[in-house]
Amino acid sequence: MKNILFLVVDGLGDEYIPKLAGTPLEYASSKLENMNKMTSEGICGLHWPVKPGIPPSSGKAHLSLFGYDVEKLKVGRGVFEALGTNMKLEKNEIAFRTNFATVRKKKNELIVVDRRAGRIKKKDAEALANTVKKKIKNWEVQTRFKHTVEHRGVLIIKGENLSDKITDTDPHQIGKPVIAPQPIWGSKEEERQKAEKTCDFLEKATKCLYNTLKKDSVNEKRRRKGKKPANILLIRGGGSIAETPSFKEKWGMKATYTAEAPLYKGVARFLGMEHLSVEESLDFSANNEKKRILKAIDVLNDDYDFVFLHIKLADNLSHSKKPKKVVEYLKNLDRSFEPILKEDNLLVILTGDHSSSSRRGRHTGMPVPLLFWGDTPRDACTKFNENELADKGGLGTVHGKDIMPITLDLADRAEELGIKTDPKLHRYKTSKGKTLKLH
Ligand code: ZN
Ligand code: ZN
Repeated sequence: MKNILFLVVDGLGDEYIPKLAGTPLEYASSKLENMNKMTSEGICGLHWPVKPGIPPSSGKAHLSLFGYDVEKLKVGRGVFEALGTNMKLEKNEIAFRTNFATVRKKKNELIVVDRRAGRIKKKDAEALANTVKKKIKNWEVQTRFKHTVEHRGVLIIKGENLSDKITDTDPHQIGKPVIAPQPIWGSKEEERQKAEKTCDFLEKATKCLYNTLKKDSVNEKRRRKGKKPANILLIRGGGSIAETPSFKEKWGMKATYTAEAPLYKGVARFLGMEHLSVEESLDFSANNEKKRILKAIDVLNDDYDFVFLHIKLADNLSHSKKPKKVVEYLKNLDRSFEPILKEDNLLVILTGDHSSSSRRGRHTGMPVPLLFWGDTPRDACTKFNENELADKGGLGTVHGKDIMPITLDLADRAEELGIKTDPKLHRYKTSKGKTLKLH
């Protein structure tokens, strides 16, 4: 049985960029020595994170990578953001991801000027967060708020008669008006009534916070200095905690994670992965993933069967439409993979949660590079890039949720279909079945 290092490079997989005459992975290809070696020795393919042509959010895409059916398991991003910042969630609570943003009034609407209020820094954001906290104290619906990093935060509302089946207020686009929260179509009558109540409250809350924040002295100062005021709290991804089998229950492995942003920590915690005790001392600087990889290999040799290692920066650079920086980043990342190649009882998965186009600046619904390395069957691929993997990949194009079963198989952990030694019919080899006792 092999232990598993699951490397997720956020937004890995791009598209043809005219000035590179290829994708960033193709352009960097001759310099990706370690990735190419793993490609030559491993088995590759591509994956559709959710379904062909559907650009997923990172949260949904990760659930799919871990083998969960995201069309059935409906969990809003707010849940992951809350868990990822150590906020506990109860069943009757709804969590939202929030952005401090900048809006301008146009007649009777609020137009979004900047969804991140100029990527507001800690000091101002914390001062404004205190204003929000004071304001929400006595609201009719019990509400709490926590600022996390830059413009980001989490808002949680509590009550038996609330629903998360509602739209975002964030239009997700600059130049568009803030949306009035509305119930999502298709819910049953009782749920719809709860959703309506939730929307009424959040509409009032959004207006109230706008009226408070726009006059706040922090924003007065920001305006004087030519900075964008953080005059609204946009909300999105409302969700409640859902019952689902943990990662351990589903795949039979003791798992841990290392990730920088709250969303990814939250997904891992939601699935019951354990917090890596050295996490805080790990180096998240852009050019040094090597230390994290070494630490992951360490814990795989000691305590854990599975490490999820999340690498964020490539996706940020794609959102900022900087393909050349993506190329530089990939080259750096490749150097940090060097310790992996020395391991001989490890299965490594190298993939992304979704493709991100550094030309369009957004996630796309295109397939994502996928590589398994570690004494696996081999295919004819020698270079780690989209076209080579599509041409010669031995796995073809699979669905994101099929990656975990393939992982179990290649790690010699999969139970053969049809064998029934475990009453729960787990897909992994288990020794949990009750044994026959003579006395
Ligand atoms: Zn992502
Ligand atoms: Zn992204």
